[in-house]
Order: sequence, then C-alpha cells, then structure tokens
Amino acid sequence: MKQTLLLLPGDGIGPEVIAEVTRLVDLLAPDLQIEEGLVGGASYDAHGTPLTDETLKRALASDAVLLGAVGGPKWVGTARDKRPEAGLLALRKGLDVFANLRPAFCFPALVSESSLKPEVVEGLDIMIVRELTGGVYFGTPRGIDEKGGLRRGYDTAIYTHPEIERVTRVAFEIARGRSGRVCSVEKSNVMDSGLFWRQEVTLAHAELGAGVDLSHMYADACAMELVRAPKQFDVILADNLFGDILSDEAAMLTGSIGMLPSASLGAEGTPGLYEPVHGSAPDIAGKGIANPCAAILSFEMALRWSLGRAKVADALFAAVGVALDKGARTKDLGGELSTREMTDAIIAAL
Ligand code: ATP
Ligand code: MG
Repeated sequence: MKQTLLLLPGDGIGPEVIAEVTRLVDLLAPDLQIEEGLVGGASYDAHGTPLTDETLKRALASDAVLLGAVGGPKWVGTARDKRPEAGLLALRKGLDVFANLRPAFCFPALVSESSLKPEVVEGLDIMIVRELTGGVYFGTPRGIDEKGGLRRGYDTAIYTHPEIERVTRVAFEIARGRSGRVCSVEKSNVMDSGLFWRQEVTLAHAELGAGVDLSHMYADACAMELVRAPKQFDVILADNLFGDILSDEAAMLTGSIGMLPSASLGAEGTPGLYEPVHGSAPDIAGKGIANPCAAILSFEMALRWSLGRAKVADALFAAVGVALDKGARTKDLGGELSTREMTDAIIAAL
C-alpha cells in the first residue's frame, strides 16, 4: 500500500516553506501519496474552526503529517478555542504524540552564526526528547482562586508510570542510532514528581535500556552545561516543562530559527507530526524570503522516523549541509537567496 504524507501548510510562511518540500518529495519520494489539508487560521477562515474532525481523521489515516505554521495577527482577537494555535494543540492531542524531538545540530558552515565560541559548538549534535502530553502543563488541580483570604495560582506536576516509560523508550531507541548516551533531566532534589521521574527512568533503563548509557542531571545544571559545554550531550530526556525550556535554549546554540525542525511521535505504527520550530513569521510572510530549511529538515525527520526511509533522509540532510558549505544563505542567515533559490541549492547538492 502507498504511504501517505498529509501536508498542512497553515498560515503565514507555512504555505511558502511547505511548497518547497513538495519539490523535494517529487525528487526523493515520488511514490509517496501527498494529501493536503487546512489547519490554523486557514481552516478557521474556511470552516470556522482551526481543525476540522475531517482533517484530524485524515491525519490519523496518514503515515506522517507535515505542518507549516499556524497563527498571525489576523486571528489575534479570536476566541481562545478557535485560535489557530488551538488547532495545533488539538492535532497533537488527536494524534497522541507524546514524544517531541528537537535536534540541536550545528551545520559546519553555520558555526559562526552561533552566539557561542566556535570551539564550543563545532560538531555539536544533540537530540532533545521532550515529554509532550503530561506534566505540569496539563496536571490538575490547577487554577487561580482565593483561599483563606489569599489570592493564589497553582498547577500540578504529575506523571504516571506509563507516561514516563513510553517517552523513555523513545529516547533509548533514538540514542541507539546515535552515540548511545541519554541524559535524563529533572529536579529530583526538590520535587517529588522529579524524584519519581528519575526512579522510573532508572527502572526503564534496567528493563529496556540495553546498549544505552544513562546519566541524570538536575535541570538547572543542564541549562548551565548546555551553554558551557554542550558537546557533552547526546540525547537529553526531559519532562514537558524542562524540555520546553531546554530545547529552546539548545536551539539558540545553532544559529537561525529558520534552520530548526521538530518531530512529535506517538505509539509505534501511528503517524508522527513534523513541523518547523519557527512560527508563521507574519513580518516576512508573502515576501518569498523565508528560510525553507526548517521545513525541509522536518520532512527529513518524517522520512527517517515515520516513513522508514533513513537512506533518503541521510541524503537530504547531507544535501542541506553541502548547500550551506557552498554558501547558500537566505536572509536570516545573512544571505540574499529567496526561499525558492535556497531549495534550488539543496536540489543541486542532491
Ligand atoms: P509564534 O508565536 O508562531 O511562534 P513568533 O513570532 O514567536 O511566532 P516566529 O514566527 O518563528 O515566532 O518568528 C520569529 C522571528 O523569526 C521573526 O522575525 C521571523 O521573521 C523570523 N523567522 C521565523 N521563521 C523564519 C524562517 N523560516 N526564515 C526566516 N526568518 C524566520
Ligand atoms: Mg514563538
């Protein structure tokens, strides 16, 4: 049966960068069945909701979903549950993608783009695995209320055994295809949920961690080490909150946001959700100058993690590196190339 890739270009520069991906699909995976749908503001404008049941159904029936970006000034006043961002959250929830993968890779040609010293980032290659569906962002009780005459606000940090085990399993699997090292991050010194996290990861390692070298670090120490000596890390495993913060921090070690892909994976055999880390970038939308690399590298991750085409993914990743080596740069990287010309350079390298 044909593999299906559902494209959800979304808003702003989303459609511009996803259009470039379709050129690479034609070249690298012409047998893929490509479908297209609406998400975010584009879906709201057409259907009055940022994600229709129909689109979610098609996402669930596909092998992988590649999203561009959602949001923009046009929809700022929209009710919270109708905002473009709500469409993305509903999609993540509907696909039950619990493991968010964010690589922090420094392409040799972009070493000078980093705000850190070249020797600190040269050869940097980290994968952050963030738990995406649990923890303090979703725990209950939560609220803002009044008790004993005091106004207060609170959230609940909570994880269950299966939630930690399944994301740990993903981190181990990814580590096995890399240097085999996983550093699990929490605050077990001050949080019970953090202590539980450490215990569960340690247990999972005894059971499922063959070939994986596991270490533990407090999240604050990890934040510091990421800037001081980031190359010590291979895979970093973190909960929703710390993973959110640390993946943004790690991203900035490597240069432009226009280069950064992400993947969100669910249970084995279910479609993964792939998207650039950047947003809809309304300030440059429609100008044809957006960097397509984050979207192209998101497609690269889809080839690798959902479509079982690691060799093609390797070739595409290498081609991006070669194009950069040859000086191909969009505006965000200090160059002059248009979105389309940047892709041309990658295609030429392929
Ligand atoms: P969101 O809330 O959707 O994350 P944001 O404003 O926080 O939006 P982005 O939309 O990612 O973040 O934009 C941040 C800045 O980075 C903007 O100045 C934008 O032009 C720039 N930017 C984002 N993506 C790209 C890209 N692919 N190529 C070039 N510049 C980009
Ligand atoms: Mg943002």
